[in-house]
Amino acid sequence: MTTALATLQTTFGYSDFRGQQADIIDALIAGDDVLVLMPTGGGKSLCYQIPALVREGLAIVVSPLIALMHDQVEALGQLGVSAAYLNSSLTSDQVQSIEQGLRNGEIRILYVAPERLVQPRTLSLLQSLPISLFAIDEAHCVSQWGHDFRSDYLQLSLLQQQFPAVPRIALTATADERTRAEIIERLQLQAAKQFVSGFDRPNIVYRIEQKQNARQQLLRFLHNEHPKDAGIVYCLSRRKVEETASWLTTQGLNALPYHAGLPAPTRQQNQDRFLREDGVIIVATIAFGMGIDKPDVRFVAHLDLPKSIESYYQETGRAGRDGEPATAWMVYGVQDVIKLKQMLSQSQGNEEFRRVEHHKLDAMLGLCEITSCRRQVLLSYFGEQDHGPCNNCDTCLTPPQTFEGTVVAQKALSVCHRTGQRFGVNHLIDVLLGKTPDKVIQFGHDKLSTFGIGGELDVNQWRSVFRQLVARGLMQVDVAGFGGLQLTEKCRPLLKGEQSIELRKDIKVDSGRKSRSSG
Ligand code: ADP
Ligand code: ZN
Repeated sequence: MTTALATLQTTFGYSDFRGQQADIIDALIAGDDVLVLMPTGGGKSLCYQIPALVREGLAIVVSPLIALMHDQVEALGQLGVSAAYLNSSLTSDQVQSIEQGLRNGEIRILYVAPERLVQPRTLSLLQSLPISLFAIDEAHCVSQWGHDFRSDYLQLSLLQQQFPAVPRIALTATADERTRAEIIERLQLQAAKQFVSGFDRPNIVYRIEQKQNARQQLLRFLHNEHPKDAGIVYCLSRRKVEETASWLTTQGLNALPYHAGLPAPTRQQNQDRFLREDGVIIVATIAFGMGIDKPDVRFVAHLDLPKSIESYYQETGRAGRDGEPATAWMVYGVQDVIKLKQMLSQSQGNEEFRRVEHHKLDAMLGLCEITSCRRQVLLSYFGEQDHGPCNNCDTCLTPPQTFEGTVVAQKALSVCHRTGQRFGVNHLIDVLLGKTPDKVIQFGHDKLSTFGIGGELDVNQWRSVFRQLVARGLMQVDVAGFGGLQLTEKCRPLLKGEQSIELRKDIKVDSGRKSRSSG
């Protein structure tokens, strides 16, 4: 029997296992069930691909991503491993020829979409074949709390019932305690050996800036820090993806859009160019990236706030897989918070689900507003409490300044109160600054005692104050209405002067500095 290490070297061309790969692979080869939590880029695929080749029979890999299956099968083919996939993209002729190959024992690894696997026809085919193992990739899709929930994954517990003797390995990069428990329960992995790898990505520097002029900030970041580098720019909406990509192109950058609304050939082409050419910037919605294996992504930039720390971690984790320095850069502003909170409230799902989602978003906001090490917050979110300050994030490298913000916070809260708790940030700031656009006049807000009392700060500084008040739960977004700001119970002591507050002083972004462009 060929050993795991020999297979790693001869088939895959790598000299050594990484991290816990060797232990995971040994356990699976020995016939144990295994649960693997490993960050993106950690090398999960080999954990089942090598046992698939060492054990006798056919290995089944359950994966939710059709595009990814295709890539993996192709990559394995190039290494001389005979692999195939079954999913809805195949013609019936293709399916028949694969089924023939399976019966003849010509295929070692079969990728299957979950909805396909649980079809009676597929199951009875598999019952007739010698199965070496089941690998369940992206296992967090089984979790209803997760952002990638797929109902077909719930049925995968039938593997345990129908194939009790076949070892199973479940893999995911997303795993807070709750998701992990859910994976174990729903996939019946109570007896599985668990392997939890460190989540730290020391070569990634984390930076989060206040959003002022996002495009210019992005451009400056690209020019100053990543000229000619490959990277990903994430935006929330398809429209913004397209607008940003074409704007970057007019600025002389090699930028391509990617989102689920583009025609499949365009998407494929842009993805291929990103993978094969040097220095391509892909501007994308979160539809892009799952399963993208490009080691030299030098930066991941977020123009919109991710909806959870898990998402942030997963998306930024696509940078620097080769271990070389990489940047996770983000701009965020108060409007992002409002937009996301509104989207959440309008989303499907029961109340409990939405409550959890709001909670996750609040944790993300906490990461944005933190004045101590960002990496510490990130890692402790994933259960790693024992890290010191990293010295490789913005808050470590340039500790943020704070200021005594009680008075300005009181002004912000009272203008919200006086205007009836239904107006958005822009309007509130207009009133604070004593501006008189139509809307201020129309509502008579120029007559209020709070009109014009905020001259000590400029628009951006006020935005920062409101953002921090929302992030700290002193104000909330009226998600049932039009996204106006409201006071919360928590702000009372501050309003009454029984409590003071330290606010973060956001560094003013100087639009001329070091920038090669004029504006
Ligand atoms: P994940 O699925 O955990 O995100 P992958 O399985 O795609 O990670 O692996 C990420 C990259 O690391 C791939 O390019 C893979 O070939 C490489 N890799 C994995 N294991 C090893 C190893 N032992 N030695 C060298 N490179 C490895
Ligand atoms: Zn740090």
